[in-house]
Amino acid sequence: MIGSSLYGPLLQNSTQPNALPLCPYRPMDSVPKPVVKVGMPKQKRVVASIPVRQCANIKSKKHPDVRCPLAAGQGEFCTRHAKNPTRFQEESLVKISGNKRNHLSAKKIQHWWKSSKFLLRFKRQGPAATFPELADNQTDLYTLETTANIPVLYRWSYSDAQKHIWIFDVRSLSMLKSSESKAVLENPYTRTEISGTPLKSFLARCQQLRANKYCLVHNDTLELTEEQLWHQQVLDMAMKYDALGYSMSLSWFDALSIQQLYLFYYELWELWMYRLQLSSVVRHSVVPGWASNDTPLFRWLPNELRGRREPKWWRKMILDLLNRLVSATQKDHRTLGALYAMTAFAIVSPTVRQHYSWLVEMPEDQAY
Ligand SMILES: [Zn+2]
Repeated sequence: MIGSSLYGPLLQNSTQPNALPLCPYRPMDSVPKPVVKVGMPKQKRVVASIPVRQCANIKSKKHPDVRCPLAAGQGEFCTRHAKNPTRFQEESLVKISGNKRNHLSAKKIQHWWKSSKFLLRFKRQGPAATFPELADNQTDLYTLETTANIPVLYRWSYSDAQKHIWIFDVRSLSMLKSSESKAVLENPYTRTEISGTPLKSFLARCQQLRANKYCLVHNDTLELTEEQLWHQQVLDMAMKYDALGYSMSLSWFDALSIQQLYLFYYELWELWMYRLQLSSVVRHSVVPGWASNDTPLFRWLPNELRGRREPKWWRKMILDLLNRLVSATQKDHRTLGALYAMTAFAIVSPTVRQHYSWLVEMPEDQAY
């Protein structure tokens, strides 16, 4: 395997226990000073960058004209307002005249919307989304509440090969998937793998909820913790790779040491710059603007990062890289980007290598 043979001697020969391997392409003396000032901002994250929805409630009975500023950790509402919500309504600028014809048209649209809503829910959330009692399980696996109490938008169900129907709170299943070290998703009641069409449906539902900034973790606190917010960001990245056929467990990413994160950067840089021998057309298609001064894909030469030790900074930087590689407009190009990233991931992480051995075990001339 490429990983162990390439780094084994380098790591063993170094005098410091945690020393990072030297980049073989560039002696340390010739390394230019970093052009860009780096570092995590000291201040706390501002509200605007929070990757979740804002609570849809009014701020309070005293201030019904102001929307609650908290993050919506419980579907559409924050924990404080989830039990007895009063929806905040912005004053409508359009006044519809109330004549009889308009009224009838509105009724028709409402009727159509109602019937199509059920169909759409069936398609997106499975056979038991509207009627949870159709499912074999009557409690949620995480909250242990009855399934009828799962907020409708979080319900997801499927029918397995034996025609048994199972219903889940999307958040519970998503948290289960994140916590498992395996890449496959198992039905916790039957221990059988959820794959094929049901898996696609589940991933699509997760993506749809995240696209609308719904939170995919259960949280009981008023404010989302920094850790929960970070979890959402890693989850968003993992879902993009899932959709391209590269499933990963979030624990694979969280488990990387600083040394492995450094090697991840280094490998990706080397694959991209040299080893894959990518044409400039391919590079520009996979990551538009990758070589520009404003939005370079690799802001630093690997050697310039040898002194960095902050785990937070490293994780954020690698996460940005992983996102960037799957941000092309065409799916073919995103799939290529995912392939490159997963190859580097498999080289640096033995766990990933176990699942994606085919990425690193092929002879060099056939590998890509
Ligand atoms: Zn609220």
